[in-house]
Formats: sequence, C-alpha cells, structure tokens
Amino acid sequence: MERTRVILFLFLAVFLFTSCTEEDQKPKNIILLIGDGMSFAHLQAGILASEEPLNIEEFRHIGFIHTSSANNFVTDSGAAGTALASGTKTNNGFIGMDPDGNPVRSILQIASDNGLSTALVASCAITHATPASFIAHQPSRNMAEEIAADFLTTDIDVFIGGGLDHFANRSDGRNLVEELETKGYRIAYNMDEVMQVSSGKLAALVADNHPPSMLDGRGDMLPQATLAALNILKRNPEGFFMMVEGAQIDWEGHSNDIEGIVAEMLDFDRVIGKALEFARQDGNTLVVIASDHDTGGLALHGFDSDTHLLTAGFTTGGHTGLIQPVMAWGPGAEKFTGIYENTGVFDNMLEAFGFSSN
Ligand code: MG
Ligand code: ZN
Repeated sequence: MERTRVILFLFLAVFLFTSCTEEDQKPKNIILLIGDGMSFAHLQAGILASEEPLNIEEFRHIGFIHTSSANNFVTDSGAAGTALASGTKTNNGFIGMDPDGNPVRSILQIASDNGLSTALVASCAITHATPASFIAHQPSRNMAEEIAADFLTTDIDVFIGGGLDHFANRSDGRNLVEELETKGYRIAYNMDEVMQVSSGKLAALVADNHPPSMLDGRGDMLPQATLAALNILKRNPEGFFMMVEGAQIDWEGHSNDIEGIVAEMLDFDRVIGKALEFARQDGNTLVVIASDHDTGGLALHGFDSDTHLLTAGFTTGGHTGLIQPVMAWGPGAEKFTGIYENTGVFDNMLEAFGFSSN
C-alpha cells in the first residue's frame, strides 16, 4: 500500500515537472531565416506556383512586423537587418550601429559570448547588408572591405556566401583569407569543398562577389550551405545561433520579375525544409522566418491553376513600408505572434534563449 502511494506520488511529481518545463522550455538552438524583400505576395506566389505544399505552410505561429527605420518609413536592408539582429532602429544604410554611430551587439554576438556556436549563410556576398548586420559595425553598407575586416574581429564559427574579392582582393593590400587561415579557419571556395567540412571553423567564399540567381543557375547552393553549417554547429552541446538569408528574393523584386521571385521563393522554402528537418530531429531548436521589408509592392492579379502561372503587378522598383510576416516553429514560437516592431524579433529571440543584452 505504502509503495503504491510512493509510486503514485512520483508519477504526479514527474507529470507536474514535465508539464511545467514544457511551458517554460527554452530552445538550445535558434535558426533565423530571413527572406529579403519577402512580403505576403511573394510568399503567396511561392505557394501558388508550387504543385506540392511548401514547408513554410507548416508554421502555425505567425506575426506581423512594422519595418520603418529610424529615419525613414521605408527601410533599407541595412537598417532592417540591424533591427532584426540587434533590436535597434537605425538610419538607412547603417550596419550594426545606432543612429548616433555607436556599435550595437547582435544576437549572434550575444550567443557567441554565451558559449554558443554561430553561423551566417547567404545567397549573396557575405559582406552584404543583411548578413553584415549580424557581425559588422559600419556607418555604410557600401563599406564591403571594412565589413569583411570586421569578420576577423569576431569568433564566428561558420560563414558561407560570396564576396571573396572583399577578403582577398582589397585596396589596403591585406589578405583576409590568409588571416582567417591563421585564425584556424578552413577555407572553401566552392560547395564541393564546403560539403567536405563537418567540424571546426569554416570560411566559405564561393563567389568573387555574389553567387548567381536561381534563374542563372545557383542550383542548391543555399540549402546545401544550410545543411553544411548545421552539421558543424550541432557539435556544440551549448547550442548555436545561425542566420540564413534568401538574399535574392529582394533583387528579383527590384527587377519586378515574378518568375525570378518564384524561383527564389522556392529555393528559400528548401532552406526552410532543411531547418525544419533538423529542428524536428533535434527537438530543441526554434526556427524563425522573417522578412526584412517588402520589395516591389507586388500584387497578384491572376492565377491559372492548370499552369500555376501568375499575373503580377508591381508598384515600385524599390522597397515599400508594408507590414511584413514573421513565422516561428519550435520551443518559444508562441512569442512571435501579434503585430509589433521589427526590433521585437531580436527581443523575442533573446528572451527565448534566456540571455540578457548587456
Ligand atoms: Mg539582404
Ligand atoms: Zn532591396
């Protein structure tokens, strides 16, 4: 009798403990996926153009973010990236700095300081505005060489993208590739070399400047790079933070090219698939998808369900101030619902990790 009572008590204790920790569960890892210029219409275009359901349709926790920068209703990707990365609104064109020019710490740098592994992956030069916002501190997004040099002052574990020229073919004569090697990085110049690395530090510069668009044959560079980075980062028992950017959704938006937008969206969705597959197996990973701003003011006027072809209209060749989607999956995902400022994405990630910003 006594024994049954003890067993029942233990049962209850374990039940209460697990239901409690499930609610307060903190992710060990966060994967932030940024679709640059990926507004609602871009997202819908990808869904409609695909004959199969997209991975992005599996997300249940969805929010909207206001994207204005400190000095403009319509943001650029530098100010938007800085808001997402560091929770600070800044002026258009600024990278990792507040409007007064003071450097601000990004979630990547905070994660690194807390013992986590970190990675940046992008389908553009790795020095471009969005990835740069997570690691560099410069008053202009155009300072690609200064941004490249900022990578050397950090402890980042993995970065994969284009931009080799900004590291190795510089006006100041420094060879940052050699300096990275001295710091212990394996260097990869193409995706075959990237796929051979599964531990340690990796600096992969797979194009002189930007990798090609999907329509021009980029292939599976971005999903493969995502997988390669995950394989290295998952070795850290403390966890990791990784940002992957679908950079060229924005560029096809600037070109008002619906075919290009669809191709970039479907590529970005394959990246989402890799992240979800990892998160499902791991069970302790939060996946967040965010757009930094709208590009093109895209509207969908027609759809042929037999051919999956869309009739599209654009209101601009630039960005707009339209509110943007955020989606989350995994422990902490419920924090990302609602309508809030883009800086809230950083706040929510920080809170999910349980870190403080100073
Ligand atoms: Mg970008
Ligand atoms: Zn743009």
